[in-house]
Amino acid sequence: MTPKQLNYRHLGESMIRKFEKRNMTAYYVDSKEDARKKVLELIPQGASVTYGGSETLEECGIKEALKKGDYAFIERTDAKTPEEKREMMARQMMADYFLMSTNAFTKDGELVNIDGNGNRVCFLIQGPAHVIIVTGMNKLAFDIPEAFQRIHNVATPPNCVRLGCKTPCSVTGTCGNCLSPDTICCQEIITRYSKHPGRITIIMVGEDLGF
Ligand code: SF4
Repeated sequence: MTPKQLNYRHLGESMIRKFEKRNMTAYYVDSKEDARKKVLELIPQGASVTYGGSETLEECGIKEALKKGDYAFIERTDAKTPEEKREMMARQMMADYFLMSTNAFTKDGELVNIDGNGNRVCFLIQGPAHVIIVTGMNKLAFDIPEAFQRIHNVATPPNCVRLGCKTPCSVTGTCGNCLSPDTICCQEIITRYSKHPGRITIIMVGEDLGF
């Protein structure tokens, strides 16, 4: 194990109690493979499962594993028309498990997320019975200002490039605080406490994942 990996483990283990104080359950695992195993261990067979857009889930192979498993997997990309998308959102809202990553988390245990359409943060806040968040330790920020700094200047520019958004950051690489129709910074959400014990679970992974 490298010094960086060991440091991630120390940080991750110390974060577990911080999340617990905010009524969220947390685990630390060393690798993507361990994260995938943990997700499968947490979700009972037969449960309905869906997800929000996330590079981290892709990198960990979690979606593929869920599709192959004994779950009622709700594939959001199956919806094509506006009507189908509205129906899909209703199905996702009622899911047993919703998987996502977080754009950042703080050393005090707050989750910090931005969203364009808002469906991801909507389901984080309310709807699915359980939310499982898988995040690389690279998304740990000292505090909320640093979390937003990270989101706008580290995470979002490459994400806008990936999505083909016509935004200042996709050209300059840094945030221009835009009001472009293509902006994906429409909703900015801080989750500082969960009202529902056992609803939100965070799996911290000792690797650099996602944006
Ligand atoms: S506000 Fe606009 S320029 Fe800034 S990160 Fe978001 S999309 Fe990019």
